[in-house]
Amino acid sequence: MSRNESPGILYPPASIAVIGGGQLGRMFLQAAQRMGFRAGVLSATDDAPGAQVADWSVVSPPDHLPGLRRLSEQAEAITVEFENVSAPALRWLAKRRLVRPGWRTVWVSQNRIREKSFLKEHQIPHAPWRAVLTAGDLDEAIKALGLPLILKTASSGYDGKGQIRLERAEDASSAWSSLGNVPCVAEQWVSFHAEVSVVVARGFDGSAVTYPVALNRHERHILDSTVMPAPVGPIVSMNAQSLSLAVAQALGTVGVLTVEFFLTEAGELLVNEMAPRPHNSGHLTIEAAVSSQFEQQVRALAGLPLGQSDLTRPAAMVNLLGDLWADGEPRWDAAMRSDPGVKLHLYGKRTPAAGRKMGHMTVLDPDPEIALARALAARRVLTAR
Ligand code: ATP
Ligand code: MG
Repeated sequence: MSRNESPGILYPPASIAVIGGGQLGRMFLQAAQRMGFRAGVLSATDDAPGAQVADWSVVSPPDHLPGLRRLSEQAEAITVEFENVSAPALRWLAKRRLVRPGWRTVWVSQNRIREKSFLKEHQIPHAPWRAVLTAGDLDEAIKALGLPLILKTASSGYDGKGQIRLERAEDASSAWSSLGNVPCVAEQWVSFHAEVSVVVARGFDGSAVTYPVALNRHERHILDSTVMPAPVGPIVSMNAQSLSLAVAQALGTVGVLTVEFFLTEAGELLVNEMAPRPHNSGHLTIEAAVSSQFEQQVRALAGLPLGQSDLTRPAAMVNLLGDLWADGEPRWDAAMRSDPGVKLHLYGKRTPAAGRKMGHMTVLDPDPEIALARALAARRVLTAR
């Protein structure tokens, strides 16, 4: 046992694990291994991105008791790569092992009604919204918020899935039924100037650091590119960072937390959502920061001091979606030849599908906008025939 004298602190080669075998789990595992931990995963399949690289795996759905039991036998500390892990499962694990973030943090962030109620309670600015549990609620929401509005399922949405924009009152019932008439939030449409995010790491002693603000561009509701630092000026940056720290503090989270914001035309920051984990907009910290978001997740989980979050150089990241495979294998060699500064990450997914995140590319450059231009150019080369 490599547990230190102090409770809540683990030294390598302790065994630590992540629930979820996607790319976020994979990059956590790689960071953990680099620091000498034995890194394991609870994964739905043995060929998932995380399971491919883990030192050990438990193949099981994330909330099946036999799988959780085996996980708790093999790992001294456990984190999550996504927020849709059942809170009872995390509570069960937490009686046996260190679980960071705690179940309550995950429980708040996995449901948009709880998440937005939390923001309201803590007076963190966000767009006006209403909970929609009945058709009558939706009519009330339209009256209160105006149109257009956006209807989002309260749970299990990601990459814009489970959302619909509502433009006309007469479409209300068909819009809600297209989402399955499940509990939703209706949110005022925000005509934003930009979308930004802040990744925070918080230790179990309450210490916390933030990365510089990231500027995110979405295509079809899926993150397409990130630039860090975001060209938003010092006041917006400072506000975004302090709001994110306030969210992490109020949640009492231990680990990495990402806060997504809309930046309105008037320069106001509204929290869109939060994720109690590393985030796609923080992937570029692998190359661009002193400590990556995944290293921070490892450190916070193990109870070790957080690392520096400063950027060593500005950077940009572009996602590689399955669409790039439509006409065959992308031309990796051509992209790398076109710009030797391009860093390629592929997640080991066998089947490319439209909209599926297969990998990403990062470019560092003294000028963040040039970093983005270079990353976009390299991505275009992938499919140039
Ligand atoms: P992800 O998990 O990929 O961040 P998600 O499915 O959880 O996405 P949101 O972040 O809520 O969903 O929304 C996805 C995108 O849809 C946002 O990044 C934004 O571009 C757009 N969007 C969401 N809500 C609004 C809104 N109220 N007004 C305008 N655009 C919105
Ligand atoms: Mg989002």
